[in-house]
Amino acid sequence: MKTIIEPFKIKSVEPLRFTTRKEREAILTKAGFNLFNIHADDVLIDLLTDSGTSAMSAKQWGGMIEGDEAYAGSKSFYRLEKTVKDLTGFRHIIPTHQGRAAEKILFNIMGGEGKVVPNNTHFDTTRANVEISGSEALDLPVPEGLDPCIKRDFKGNMDLDALESFIRKEGPKRIPLVMLTVTNNSNAGQPVSMENIRQTSDLCRTHGIPFFLDACRFAENAFFIKIREPGYRQTSIRKIAQEMFSYADGCTMSGKKDGLVNMGGFLAVNDDKLAQKARNILVVTEGFPTYGGLAGHDLEAFAQGLDEVLQEDYLKYRIRSVVYLGEKLNKLGVPIFQPPGGHAIYLDAKAFLPHVPAREYPGQAMTCEIYLVGGIRACEIGSVMFGKTDPESGDFKPARLEMVRLAIPRRVYTQSHIDYVVECIGEVFQRRESLKGVRIVYEPPVLRHFTAIFEPL
Ligand SMILES: *Cc1c(COP(=O)(O)O)cnc(C)c1O
Repeated sequence: MKTIIEPFKIKSVEPLRFTTRKEREAILTKAGFNLFNIHADDVLIDLLTDSGTSAMSAKQWGGMIEGDEAYAGSKSFYRLEKTVKDLTGFRHIIPTHQGRAAEKILFNIMGGEGKVVPNNTHFDTTRANVEISGSEALDLPVPEGLDPCIKRDFKGNMDLDALESFIRKEGPKRIPLVMLTVTNNSNAGQPVSMENIRQTSDLCRTHGIPFFLDACRFAENAFFIKIREPGYRQTSIRKIAQEMFSYADGCTMSGKKDGLVNMGGFLAVNDDKLAQKARNILVVTEGFPTYGGLAGHDLEAFAQGLDEVLQEDYLKYRIRSVVYLGEKLNKLGVPIFQPPGGHAIYLDAKAFLPHVPAREYPGQAMTCEIYLVGGIRACEIGSVMFGKTDPESGDFKPARLEMVRLAIPRRVYTQSHIDYVVECIGEVFQRRESLKGVRIVYEPPVLRHFTAIFEPL
């Protein structure tokens, strides 16, 4: 087999800025050892997130000029609406400025005190929006999904037995909706099988519970279904995606992922009453229903991105480039979450730094060292993000997994950039025994990973 190459050539370039280790030491100290606080200019390879960091195509940029900036009834909105309706089959498409705005509206209406929302694994903003509404966010991933070493095809799946017994125990009244995140971002970007989507949907329908997809990476998930699930080899990605959506009553979407845009999102639902309530909130908090907090040119680029993301050449290259990084790290013995997910490689921080306990945030310590060695920005997905410290008792509850995510922006970096990343991580791995943990000196009440300040131990 020949090398799977980037299915595009580069038309416009953005220079990178190199720094010395000494400069990076000063930058990191000033940033409170939190990579979110660093100026992007001081980063060489930015793998903090794949969100909103995609390179747009010439067609998308062309669409930016074509974007219709009408306040009401923008042509670009109708293009996006048609694109999303064709793809998802949902009746109501409500644009929002990004995914969390769709979540906020949805849980504002459906959440509330005393309710519980099950999900294969909540993403951080989804969890925050569920919790801020007064509801409990319950993660029910399949058990093998929590073991970084087991290689399975669909480790992002929902634990259906656990979901069923939870519904039987609590009764459907307390469960306003069930959500499935595809791919399962907080669980190493692992895909969810069509069978699991269908069965989760069946279970919800049996109990009269609405079923929603958190569809941020629906196209990457559809590609995994195509190559891993029996019966889908000959099916187009669009058809697979359409089938995925057909089992749900609605979805939230961040266009910053598989929309291939820098800003955008939507809430899509079938229920007329729910749509009306959502639009009422939208007008107050986001904007008129035909732009929802987005410029006309954003709507245009988003519609175009949703077409491009379904192209098989693109997805083949996309998934391959993530696997490539995983394979190279594997060869060096670096422990990663297996198998590689759709949008990122997750380093297993527990196995990487076994001598650093969870309460000393091994993942955070690793992100700092990776930055110092190579100017590379990675993201802790462990106890900083999902752990909790009781403000009164000081009791510490760790996350289930300690990981460092190397998220790959779409269509941005080339193979030599990735080779450089491998070299730097390899260097950190060789010196792992000398690495120490960190402690938190400041944390905000919610989503602490974004703004917390740390100190090396
Ligand atoms: C990014 C993301 C969100 C939130 O979307 P934003 O556009 O960042 O607000 C929700 N769920 C998942 C799975 C995500 O990856």
